[in-house]
Amino acid sequence: MKRLSIQTVGGLSGLAGSSSPCLDCPASPCCNYLPLRLFQADSRNSLEKLAGLLDFDGIELRLSPFGYWRIFYKQACRFLDAADAGCTLYGKPERPQACKNYSAWKCWYKHAFAARTTPENMTIDRRRLDFIMARAEYDKAGKITVFPDWEMLQKEFVFQEEPAIAAQKSRQTFLVFPAESPPDHFFDLDHYRFCLGFPGIELAIIARDAWALLVSTRFNSAPGNNRAISGAMTASPKAESAVLKKFKGDELFSTFIPSTALRLRLEHFDRLMACFDFAGDGRITHFPSLESLRDSVITHGQ
Ligand code: SF4
Ligand code: SF4
Repeated sequence: MKRLSIQTVGGLSGLAGSSSPCLDCPASPCCNYLPLRLFQADSRNSLEKLAGLLDFDGIELRLSPFGYWRIFYKQACRFLDAADAGCTLYGKPERPQACKNYSAWKCWYKHAFAARTTPENMTIDRRRLDFIMARAEYDKAGKITVFPDWEMLQKEFVFQEEPAIAAQKSRQTFLVFPAESPPDHFFDLDHYRFCLGFPGIELAIIARDAWALLVSTRFNSAPGNNRAISGAMTASPKAESAVLKKFKGDELFSTFIPSTALRLRLEHFDRLMACFDFAGDGRITHFPSLESLRDSVITHGQ
């Protein structure tokens, strides 16, 4: 991802860097949008869940022609230099490997974020999602049988802009996005370092095999919106086992977090990494227990 001018581009330098695609990409979407989840909605219920996400500040949805939904958190990485759109971590060991390895020449973001509707994807706001939900067809069980045609959606949405809707009620909360699987490689952990660079993001380790990203946000209830925020930030002990089950299932997101979860921010990350052992190829060979992580990262790290 983003580099600082010539030297920082995709690990290249000198002349090769001077023609970098980053030089005419001042919006730097790669460092301004955190990807939270790739999701394929197959039912009315899953579309409703996506609609529910649009009630939260900073959450953006993009739909691909192949029916994949990408959920983003719109927020600038704390290491992005507002003055020149460069990475202030360039050349430093704490720069995420994901950013070092990202190739600007194969960059998806630049094209995908060039407009609200591009050949790669389109932004889906409330009005667009309502349109899609009304035109999709469902079977008796609520499974999608016909999804609106991509070309038709492109034509329909071309001049539409989301009208500003004043929120009636707004409240600070967290969104919790369970990881599909626990980390098993250095790069999986490094991905969390990248995520934690975005303000408002925490890593929640609920159990050895239940990891999640926490996004600090506000829930907005607009006039006419019947969706209510489900739950509080921390689940009661009684509800925790049910929550844990959800985290190990295919839950898209939640607003619950068990009180026993280990919640880590960027400043904890080096201590977290020090608790793991890796093979030469980066695979994790020692995965500490939740208790020992809590001990090493939080208790003794203070
Ligand atoms: S979006 Fe792509 S081209 Fe633009 S700054 Fe980021 S890596 Fe470079
Ligand atoms: S650390 Fe942040 S600013 Fe630097 S390249 Fe990565 S995402 Fe962009």
